[in-house]
Amino acid sequence: MSSSIPKTQKAVVFEKNGGPLEFKDIPVPTPKSTELLIHVKYSGVCHTDLHAWKGDWPLDTKLPLVGGHEGAGVVVAMGDNVKGWKIGDYAGIKWLNGSCMNCEYCEQGAEPNCPEADLSGYTHDGSFQQYATADAVQAAKIPKEANLSEAAPILCAGVTVYKALKTADLKAGEWVCISGAAGGLGSLAIQYANAMGYRVVGIDGGADKGEFVKKLGAEVYIDFTQEKDIVSAVKKATNGGPHGVINVSVSEKAIDQSVEYVRPLGVVVLVGLPAGSKVTAPVFESVVKSVQIRGSYVGNRKDTAEALDFFARGLIKCPIKIVGLSELPEVFKLMEEGKILGRYVLDTSK
Ligand code: NAD
Ligand code: ZN
Repeated sequence: MSSSIPKTQKAVVFEKNGGPLEFKDIPVPTPKSTELLIHVKYSGVCHTDLHAWKGDWPLDTKLPLVGGHEGAGVVVAMGDNVKGWKIGDYAGIKWLNGSCMNCEYCEQGAEPNCPEADLSGYTHDGSFQQYATADAVQAAKIPKEANLSEAAPILCAGVTVYKALKTADLKAGEWVCISGAAGGLGSLAIQYANAMGYRVVGIDGGADKGEFVKKLGAEVYIDFTQEKDIVSAVKKATNGGPHGVINVSVSEKAIDQSVEYVRPLGVVVLVGLPAGSKVTAPVFESVVKSVQIRGSYVGNRKDTAEALDFFARGLIKCPIKIVGLSELPEVFKLMEEGKILGRYVLDTSK
């Protein structure tokens, strides 16, 4: 490794789920033969990072763990078997850090569904550190002209909602409801939906979020803290229900409502992962309306390249707020309280 790479670096680490988030010095990792070493400049904070820290999903994290999977930075070193990268390239750390590339799911490009998937900020130390290793095949190529702080949220939030919109399989001019519209994923989903030609109704809570969601391109805003009958309100606003719903809230109730207000023949896409939740769909209505409920899980390399291309063409503006890496605990607190508009991005130099 080059002499300009330090031996130690700042990182946020936790030893046990829900335990202290320690901002401290740890060794700079050494890339394996197939890995890049990325000098992470910025990292988005996804609600998934909060789930990882709490340990509230039925999937164990590595411990101790450095979280984070929306890392944008510069390649500073690489292993001997890396192809297609040079020192100085902009690279992105995303949720899927590696997959077996041999199973029936990898064969068809469904790499996130690989049973051996390796996950950044979950089973592999992620982007809440200044230097992180990333699998060279899965790392995202960020165009050189990109602003790295604004590119960071594309690596999870952007890819995920873009893939979810493709999963909804809508036509231009149709209605899509984004439930959880003012959050990290929702604020990008509105913009990808508009860029893909769909009409957007956004649901979230509070007047400030309404203003925000409308500015981002939603035609209609429904405030779940004020509206008593969400199902009727969404149906009324969309003249019979949206053709598709992207559920990015962390709310079981919101998901159940979406199955009720979706239009006949419509598609409900599940993205948000409220811990321990179940979807409760009325069988009679689901059959008679011929509704489809589909899960959507991040995206593959092609989805990533496409999502970054929308961003590079200026169609997606990430609404970010930049704070220091050391401030992660405060960001988690705001996220838990539902007080975030858009995405917080951590500057790893602070
Ligand atoms: P976030 O906290 O930024 O946004 C969630 C939003 O939902 C907030 O604005 C909140 O006010 C809103 N909300 C809460 N209750 C609601 C309700 N009843 N109706 C409508 N809106 C409501 O979170 P995020 O980073 O956007 O992540 C959202 C979820 O998506 C998390 O569970 C995360 O783990 C998950 N996620 C899934 C994937 C995937 O591949 N499926 C990828 C990334 C994140
Ligand atoms: Zn994420």
